[in-house]
Amino acid sequence: MTDLYRLLPEEMEELAIKLGQPRYRADQILYSLYYKFPKSIFEIKQLPATFREKLVEQGFTIGSTKEIHKITSNDGETTKLLLNLQDETPVESVLMQYPPKKIFGHPRSTICVSTQVGCAMGCLFCATGQMGFERNMKAEEIIGQVIHFAKILSERGQHITNIVFMGMGEPLANYSETIRAIQLLTHPRGFGIGQRSITISTIGIIANIDKLAEENLQIGLAISLHAPYDKLRQWLVPTAGKNSVKDLIDAGKRFFLKTGRRVTFEYALIEGVNDSVEIAEELALLLRNNGSHVNLIPLNPTAGDFERPSRKNVIEFERILYNSGINCTVRIEKGTEISAACGQLRTDVLSKYNSEEN
Ligand code: SAH
Ligand code: SF4
Repeated sequence: MTDLYRLLPEEMEELAIKLGQPRYRADQILYSLYYKFPKSIFEIKQLPATFREKLVEQGFTIGSTKEIHKITSNDGETTKLLLNLQDETPVESVLMQYPPKKIFGHPRSTICVSTQVGCAMGCLFCATGQMGFERNMKAEEIIGQVIHFAKILSERGQHITNIVFMGMGEPLANYSETIRAIQLLTHPRGFGIGQRSITISTIGIIANIDKLAEENLQIGLAISLHAPYDKLRQWLVPTAGKNSVKDLIDAGKRFFLKTGRRVTFEYALIEGVNDSVEIAEELALLLRNNGSHVNLIPLNPTAGDFERPSRKNVIEFERILYNSGINCTVRIEKGTEISAACGQLRTDVLSKYNSEEN
């Protein structure tokens, strides 16, 4: 079985020709997939019935993801979907809408997608990391999340403006499917979103950061740093291994030199762990004159015995970085009451189902 959403436009043309159809059938399929969001091949009405039947006969399908749960935050700005993959594995994705007055700019509809079921990196504070690793997601499963939200938004006369690979899993540990998903999403005859509207977040798999820099893509990269000291980082990110904080910063520099795109360093702020004045000063020293951006994420307490710092401490941390000339933002907290942190909804829903079963 092959999901038609897996095929790049060139591959779709090859398929049409192989099945004895004119080349333009590919564009008819692509138009339907990315503008009409059909649930089955029979809904691609532009195609002759015989060709639709042939596709089905040959084992082609549509839709590797099925919605099983949807919740919206009280302010209506965050929607979370729990989607079942074909093997009934649930994964989650989130839509975050930012009204212009809140972000001093244009309205944004950002989709946060998952790339793996679970994650092998085991970060102590992360709900996904604490679940363990189940499997890599296929490109069609990754973009299926975007398609579900694109359909919801198109019904409201809106569209997706940004896509971040910050859901469950480590995108650079599922490298080739992640790249295929990006190609499908950014291809002008595919989903067609601008490369600059996509950001990948990584825990820092250095060889693959270097590989990504060679892909000739204009996507954004965020590296999850979380600590200026190797010991502290190795504790929070048990799989960090030999990669030092300096190695990560150097990898970010190489990415910038190669692509011209500045890297963002993400930093989950955890009370009493990595939020002190001294640690902020050390981080400022490391990143000064580096031209990078720091995104502070006050912890969403989901896993382990960790708490979010007070607002005062977050502002103080930001001020220290800012005073050293470091471009710094604090992530707007969204949808906490609907478990919008990575891996959380799946954990909540599964434990609810489990306790209902018991
Ligand atoms: N695996 C990738 C991408 C997914 S996580 C990575 O780690 O970068 C996306 C971001 O959410 C990361 O910066 C991660 O550190 C952060 N994150 C995970 N759990 C969190 C939590 N409970 N509170 C705040 N941020 C969290
Ligand atoms: Fe995996 Fe990222 Fe969670 Fe770490 S923070 S466990 S790398 S998803």
